[in-house]
Amino acid sequence: MLILRTLDDLRLWRRSIPLSASVGFAPTMGALHAGHMKLVEECRRENSITVVSIFVNPLQFGPNEDLARYPRPFEKDAALCEAAGVDAIYAPEPADFYAPDHATFVDVHGLDRHLCGAARPGHFRGVCTVVLKLFHAVRPHRAYFGKKDIQQALILKRMVSDLAVDVDMRLVDTVREPSGLALSSRNAYLTPDERARAIALNRGLSRARDAFANGERTANALIRIVQMEIETSEPTRIDYIEAVSQSKLEPIDKIEVPAVIAVAVFYGKTRLIDNVTLEKS
Ligand code: AMP
Repeated sequence: MLILRTLDDLRLWRRSIPLSASVGFAPTMGALHAGHMKLVEECRRENSITVVSIFVNPLQFGPNEDLARYPRPFEKDAALCEAAGVDAIYAPEPADFYAPDHATFVDVHGLDRHLCGAARPGHFRGVCTVVLKLFHAVRPHRAYFGKKDIQQALILKRMVSDLAVDVDMRLVDTVREPSGLALSSRNAYLTPDERARAIALNRGLSRARDAFANGERTANALIRIVQMEIETSEPTRIDYIEAVSQSKLEPIDKIEVPAVIAVAVFYGKTRLIDNVTLEKS
């Protein structure tokens, strides 16, 4: 497995890949877990070459967020990738990736108005900018993103469609602990007590999905189900619980499929997100 540290090295290697090969790509911020490895597994299944990027992208962190303390266990990540059959890791230094006078950004308007976009101004601009730049460097045929970050995945899909980027976007189901807690690099911040309480996110979303399956179509009623469940876990703060259309990511009163119920909740200083998609039954 190659570990590429600079754009030049990545480009040089990419040019050596035969035209007949298919290149799959899973961008990550590292601190890899079974959720990331599911992206890798799907990527390997569908492509002859698998590239993983590990880059804690400063552009997508707000001034009071966890950029400095974000976990960076590179050796462990590299070992996981090696064992999973990854062909190359691209892990640039921020200073190599962004010139000090970097001035170009990608904004997908509208889809970032609600959910995490409302709570984290500039976050999706950072995500879109890094992903488009990574796409240009890696030139993948297919790219893999988790439904755990559903707003991110849908915004990136829109970016790719609007800007005619020739990459096939593949969305992968959320990988969970047996408890139902969605795997996340940020789970490492949780105390054992917070971790146990955080199970309420998935419990609430599952109850709402069951209510939807039983015919409930009023968004507020479904939101209330999630809220009641989460409140029993004594969260530090509920950032949002919203029901939105999948196409526009805008709040809806009546559920029309496909829709998404998404939550962001703080336990201590840790902000966790999760969601459920409501589809035609
Ligand atoms: P991150 O390292 O948090 O930026 O995540 C990198 C990619 O892994 C993103 O596409 C995430 O949506 C995806 N991902 C993170 N957690 C999970 C999970 N539990 N299940 C599936 N995909 C995930």
